[in-house]
Amino acid sequence: MENLQHFKDMLEKEKETILRELQTIGRKNPTNPSDWEAVEPEINRDRADETEVADNIEQYENNSAVLEQLEKQLGNVKAALEKIAKGTYGLCEISGEPIELDRLEANPSARTCKLHMND
Ligand SMILES: [Zn+2]
Repeated sequence: MENLQHFKDMLEKEKETILRELQTIGRKNPTNPSDWEAVEPEINRDRADETEVADNIEQYENNSAVLEQLEKQLGNVKAALEKIAKGTYGLCEISGEPIELDRLEANPSARTCKLHMND
């Protein structure tokens, strides 16, 4: 693949961005460093009123949902970087056909071609 370095750069940048975002809303799971968990809101439950507690729980739940998305995306990016190392980058995981360049340009960690993108 000709522009492999270009996609590698994009993926490295995306990985950094994701890691930075993960660090703002989560922390690494101490028992499993490859897993991230949302940080529990710091709140004094004895003093906080009900609205405050509810807001914090809501924020925690939002963060957990965002975190899950980020982790999934990080997994895709890491998988793509591994494929670059192995020389299999840009191939559809289902058909083995090359993934369209415009699709990779829009999403360098795409695992499938357009035909199989919803599988
Ligand atoms: Zn395919």
